[in-house]
Amino acid sequence: MRGLYLAGRWAASDGGGSRLISCPADGTAVRSVVEGSAADATAAVAAARTAFDSGSWAALPEKQRGEMLLRTADLLHRDKARYARAEALDTGKRFVEAEYDIDDVVACFRYYGGIAGTDAGRVVDTGNPHAISRIVYAPVGVCSLITPWNYPLLQVSWKVAPALLAGNTFVLKPSELTPSTAILLMDTLTEAGVPAGVANLVTGSGPEVGAVLASDPRVDMVSFTGGLATGKAIMVAGAATVKKVTLELGGKNPNIIFADADVEAAIDYALTAVFLHSGQVCSAGARLIVDAGLHDRVVDEIVSRAARIRLGGPFDDAAQTGPLISAAHRAKVHAYVEAGVAEGAVLRTGGIIPTDGELSKGFYYPPTVLDGCTRGMTVIREESFGPVMTVETFTSESEAIEIANDTDYGLAGAVWTSDASRAQRVAGALRHGTVWINDYHPYVPQAEWGGFGQSGNGRELGPTGLSEYREIKHIWQNTSPAPQYWFPR
Ligand code: NAD
Repeated sequence: MRGLYLAGRWAASDGGGSRLISCPADGTAVRSVVEGSAADATAAVAAARTAFDSGSWAALPEKQRGEMLLRTADLLHRDKARYARAEALDTGKRFVEAEYDIDDVVACFRYYGGIAGTDAGRVVDTGNPHAISRIVYAPVGVCSLITPWNYPLLQVSWKVAPALLAGNTFVLKPSELTPSTAILLMDTLTEAGVPAGVANLVTGSGPEVGAVLASDPRVDMVSFTGGLATGKAIMVAGAATVKKVTLELGGKNPNIIFADADVEAAIDYALTAVFLHSGQVCSAGARLIVDAGLHDRVVDEIVSRAARIRLGGPFDDAAQTGPLISAAHRAKVHAYVEAGVAEGAVLRTGGIIPTDGELSKGFYYPPTVLDGCTRGMTVIREESFGPVMTVETFTSESEAIEIANDTDYGLAGAVWTSDASRAQRVAGALRHGTVWINDYHPYVPQAEWGGFGQSGNGRELGPTGLSEYREIKHIWQNTSPAPQYWFPR
């Protein structure tokens, strides 16, 4: 049984137990993993601290660490089927989607491996001929990396790759629901040459393991992806020792369709925007905001197509999307739909938990459309993180922008229009970290990802995703010191 990787070795838990991971699609047992204890988390932090303080990892030329990331990418590519299978079984998502995810993980390691050694800081022009002033980078130190269950290894890669490139050591805690690929990754990193103690893993729950990783004084930085309430708790936990805290939290993401849009394309993408991975996507386009004049045409078509989306397990070739992650999560999603209806929304399709046949064995929830929504509704304000589309209408560009920005979150959004000026105007006005024009969901590791407002702090991916794991240091050298006698002799 695995789950605890300390100082380059698989270890037995100190006082922890075990957890059975089962597939959300049908409840079959996947594997047993270590359910780590607080003592395990403390030991992992100690291992990461010792490795960091030895100085040898940070002292390596960045290029060499980058080569390890490139090797990691090659090994992940070699073992793609194994990784994708593990990810599909943990999450219940379709195997083919899990394969896409592993491709994205490979791309992330390749990107950070590829930029190694390309930015060593800068020389500052002080105007003083007797001074050399340089800005250089140093690793932050020991990083706690805490990740969710929806894109398990992808969220891990966005943290592990830049953290390693910058010369940090880390303790990783994946979601207790989906730990399998994080376990596999430890062996891959070791095979790629990452030294003992640099990469450490503790599987287990948030309150037990995560809480230690967020508060241990020997941790310098916490990088967290997950829900808003947990993110707030992590900020509070880190405050006692002024840790650097970066947060990738949820979203309540608008998808705006103007009357001049390519309607057929907009409808097609609106479905993927929210129903991909059954809505368990932080950037899901859950809020459809459509020109009032287009409402009936767009919504009738979406409802009819949503009702035909086929649900099924990871290896069901006919399936178009999979289950939700757990019974508890499905109950939460259903409660949002019920709240929406109670507050006046019109349930156009979905909203009923399947109780017959194969689907009754998993945590399935049908694609659901709530029409006639208004801004005060709970289902508009809070993230359901499920396959739930809400529909709002507007009659002017400024109203569309106002509705889309009326959220505590600010992660992502899209605008559909054939008017290039309007597209740029609206994209500029949206208070969201990513804006797609006539598209939904694409991202590349070269471009930053993150949120405005309560969608988080800091950015992942791109050069900024690396700078989050760097301290910035100013080194000043006086090349010809001579007394100044500010205070007379
Ligand atoms: P979650 O907050 O319940 O859990 C995330 C991680 O935090 C898990 O590993 C969990 O064990 C751990 N955790 C829980 N309590 C903790 C505590 N007190 N201290 C430390 N760690 C703790 O979130 P989830 O349900 O796993 O994931 C869904 C959420 O993640 C959604 O809100 C989604 O929007 C968000 N998300 C955001 C992004 C993004 O890029 N912004 C990406 C993916 C998911």
